[in-house]
Amino acid sequence: MLKLQAFWCSFVVCLVLVLLTVSCTSKNNSDSQEKTSEIVAKDSIPPHVRLCTELIPDSYIDKVEGLSAGVLSATRWRWAPGKSKVITVTFIDGVQSIQKRVQNIASAWEPLIGAKFMYVPNSQNADIKISFAQKGVSWSSIGTDSKNRRPSMNFGWLEEEEIDSLFQSVVLHEFGHAIGLVHEHQLPNGNKIKWNVDSVYAYYMGYPNFWKIKDIKLNIFDRYSQNQIIGGKYDPLSIMMYHIPASLTEDGYTTPINVRISKEDKRTITDVYLR
Ligand SMILES: [Zn+2]
Repeated sequence: MLKLQAFWCSFVVCLVLVLLTVSCTSKNNSDSQEKTSEIVAKDSIPPHVRLCTELIPDSYIDKVEGLSAGVLSATRWRWAPGKSKVITVTFIDGVQSIQKRVQNIASAWEPLIGAKFMYVPNSQNADIKISFAQKGVSWSSIGTDSKNRRPSMNFGWLEEEEIDSLFQSVVLHEFGHAIGLVHEHQLPNGNKIKWNVDSVYAYYMGYPNFWKIKDIKLNIFDRYSQNQIIGGKYDPLSIMMYHIPASLTEDGYTTPINVRISKEDKRTITDVYLR
């Protein structure tokens, strides 16, 4: 399945260990986003969160130390003229109610890429192959690299009782990767993060992530070059942004838990797909 150097992508902004009991029933995405943001605002932020590591294509890892060459641009989905703009998606496993919830949330990306996610029965040939089997971690391949992997996306902590905001956050984040978006904190343009290196190592090597040093380097410290990325203006409100506690930066800089697609996310992804 996943090669060690290929990292999990997991998620997001963060994930609380504790399972809270709120069911997600809203099919209206904008309403849902508003609603879930309110929930997050009222929640206390846990001291330890699970984060997403991008499943970086092997070709980039092999080519250069760290990150290399337009991950977003190279993995952008493209459709032949006259062909339906669809990205096929299949669930390898999982329960139907959670699958449906994932579909409803992921659909928020569709108008921004001008394409539809078409859900098909468990198929070897689907573009995106989703599993819930690898517990404790969530990750996704980036863009069209999804075609090369099975599963190409994993949700390791989505349960019926998951709070709406955290459910939405991880689904939007992983599908963001699946359409080609990379982690916000690794963008070079306007990035204000000054990592406290020792604190970062201590934090991510501990519970609940248990990352290795090379994982931390690749997923935290390494940054893309601007010419590797389409768009790429750093946006602390991006759904692709980690929640960064102030204790991990030298100057107390921190970022919130984001649960919605930000304005800059919309600008970037529509620039890539709709223009
Ligand atoms: Zn991620």
